[in-house]
Amino acid sequence: MARHVVPSRWKSGMIEVGPKIFAYVQASGIDPAGDTGVSNSGLIVGAESAMAVDALMVPSMTRGLVAAIRKTTRRPVATLINTHHHLDHTGGNRFFRDATIIATSRCREELAAGFPPVSMLQRFMPRFAREFPLLKLTLPTLTFQDHLVIHDGDREIQLWHPGMSAHTVGDATVFLPRERVLFAGDIAFHYVTPLAFQGHVGNWINAATRLLGFDADVIVPGHGPIGAKKDLAHMRDYLAMVRREARKRFEAGMPAEAAARDIKLGVYASWSDPERILPNVSRCYQEFQDELHRPIDVARMLAGMAELRGARFDHACL
Ligand SMILES: [Zn+2]
Ligand SMILES: [Zn+2]
Repeated sequence: MARHVVPSRWKSGMIEVGPKIFAYVQASGIDPAGDTGVSNSGLIVGAESAMAVDALMVPSMTRGLVAAIRKTTRRPVATLINTHHHLDHTGGNRFFRDATIIATSRCREELAAGFPPVSMLQRFMPRFAREFPLLKLTLPTLTFQDHLVIHDGDREIQLWHPGMSAHTVGDATVFLPRERVLFAGDIAFHYVTPLAFQGHVGNWINAATRLLGFDADVIVPGHGPIGAKKDLAHMRDYLAMVRREARKRFEAGMPAEAAARDIKLGVYASWSDPERILPNVSRCYQEFQDELHRPIDVARMLAGMAELRGARFDHACL
């Protein structure tokens, strides 16, 4: 088994990952305040225009992204891709009003229901509370079901939906086969604990396995540092461990909250936001009970996660 080295710092900003292909990484390391809301974006500079992958969350973030894009290219951003409906990927859509905004049809449907209430967002992500009232919804303008290929000169850009709910119901990835670069959206979290509060953990494991079959040398995750297949494999292994351990406890009749406290995280305890074990176990339980259509109780989840954080999460040792 490959050594599992968890980086505590990594490169942030606009980083070239292929010829005229860039990842925009917001965080530079594991933050004690947590990763929630701090996502990555991407930029693909074409012959006539550029394409952005995800628009980040609050205005200060997207203004930073737009400024970094302007420093990188003079070409206009004609296309924006939303990898899924979550606010940390779509909140900044309005800064790309002149672009065609592409997403899966399920992503657009979810987004059309509106952003979560400001008060809930402020509780979920207090670091950005001041900016949530400034959010304005801008919907995708072009949608696809499973697969879409964009041809830009010699360049081919493949958009793919796993055909099932994984991190959300409407995930999309962006793959450049010639350059072997994959923007995985939130199907990939690198060294940041994945968050499945709207996900299907079993399918997410399968979707990650499918992505590991892509001919990609570089994987840009939705959260965490730029990496490669081994990093995505670590995340898949985390989800598989959580699902396996949750199943044992579910079958033994242990409640989800108790299971989340009981599961030993081992090496994964050093990833950012380990308290996400609670929503992840809760979604596994819903999956086992065939109740995934029911939304998770967000208020209860937040209270439970705060409690786990407060307990200093001493599951670090096996
Ligand atoms: Zn997400
Ligand atoms: Zn995200």
